[in-house]
Amino acid sequence: MPRRPLLLVVLAAVISLGLAADLGWRNLQSSRPEVAADEQESGTDSATDALSPLVSADGADRERTDIASRQAQGPRTLREPQGEPTAGQMTPVMKEATVIAVDGEPVVAVADAAAAQEVVDTILASYRESYLSDATVIEDLSFAEVVTWEAGEVEAESIKTVEEAVNVLLLGTDKVATYTVESGDTAWDIALEYGLTTDQLARANPGVDIEWLQIGQELTITYKEPYVHPQSVSQRVVYEGIPFVEERIEDDSLWPWESFVVTPGSWGTREKTVRERRQEGVVVSTEVLASRVTAEPKKQVRRVGIKQVPDLGSGSLVLPLVGEITSYYGPRWGSWHNGIDIAAPTGAPVVAADSGMVTYVGWNGNYGKMVEIDHGGGKMVTWYAHLSDYNVSVGQTVGKGDVIGYVGNTGYSTGPHLHFEIRIDGSPVNPLNYYP
Ligand SMILES: [Zn+2]
Repeated sequence: MPRRPLLLVVLAAVISLGLAADLGWRNLQSSRPEVAADEQESGTDSATDALSPLVSADGADRERTDIASRQAQGPRTLREPQGEPTAGQMTPVMKEATVIAVDGEPVVAVADAAAAQEVVDTILASYRESYLSDATVIEDLSFAEVVTWEAGEVEAESIKTVEEAVNVLLLGTDKVATYTVESGDTAWDIALEYGLTTDQLARANPGVDIEWLQIGQELTITYKEPYVHPQSVSQRVVYEGIPFVEERIEDDSLWPWESFVVTPGSWGTREKTVRERRQEGVVVSTEVLASRVTAEPKKQVRRVGIKQVPDLGSGSLVLPLVGEITSYYGPRWGSWHNGIDIAAPTGAPVVAADSGMVTYVGWNGNYGKMVEIDHGGGKMVTWYAHLSDYNVSVGQTVGKGDVIGYVGNTGYSTGPHLHFEIRIDGSPVNPLNYYP
């Protein structure tokens, strides 16, 4: 058994005092008249009301003594419903037991104080296993409520096993049903089927990732309101990657589409110690206590080509595609249209507006499949976008009017068309300026 957290030590102390001096349990009910133990069986004193169902129910009525079913009827109380026929008026068998109380309200009876301690230990150990397995420090592991226990005489039938009492405290009932996950099940379906929210299903199955169910997995599908809500404050160490930067060295011996890594970069690592507050396992706040870089990222060095394409263009352009211009250069839909759109069916051939060298063939974000032609001499570059296919490859020299690709609808496009763009020194200009 792992070392108990402070709260349990305190609880144990309270319990010992309670047994020795009749504190705790009775103090929690101090507004009620004191009653001597030998008066309890008479059931006439209000201080014994809380235990009355435990002492009055008979065997045939066992279902109704279930605290959880009682809870579903209304306020959390152990009071037996009135007007109950007590079959044959049999004298209930009484037994010494230990009653566990939550915030002063009696909830469930177990055999003895050791069993009560085991109930609490079991709940907290299960929580620790589910949520704190990678904790480096557990600062607090306790309940949101005050959990105490006290010796008392109860009806023998009402005494729960440790496992039943754990379920009563955590699930609101000891009548726990399970469901075996089948192919195609989702947590949402299962929760709906059994009248639970997915949150309740998750809470009834601590440590189970209900968004990632396995076929054959057993789920607890019984859930009422829990009596206790475990909570924790713990620390753990997490690691984060630190991306590297890339230094680009221009190299005029390489073509613009050529580049290569000289020195590969590598990610760095940051180690963080975080404090997490959890309620029923769910992290409700995170605080970074310490952060240090355990490995510096290593810079990547890349050579990129800037070799000037020779002056290949004639300076007089042909239209890359004949068709209706459906959108002009300039402001459009609150932004700026960097070229012109020419409508044509998918597959219609697209030609080079002027002679030049193909410097890019490939996908380019919203442009989809695209060809770039540098017409050389540092004067002009043209872009042909949303293509369905290519007819050229990078580094190839093309002549004015050569087919370079085919109209398509790739990238950010609502129908087959060519987006044609002319760039001077990297900036788009109005293509129609070149077609007098
Ligand atoms: Zn366009």
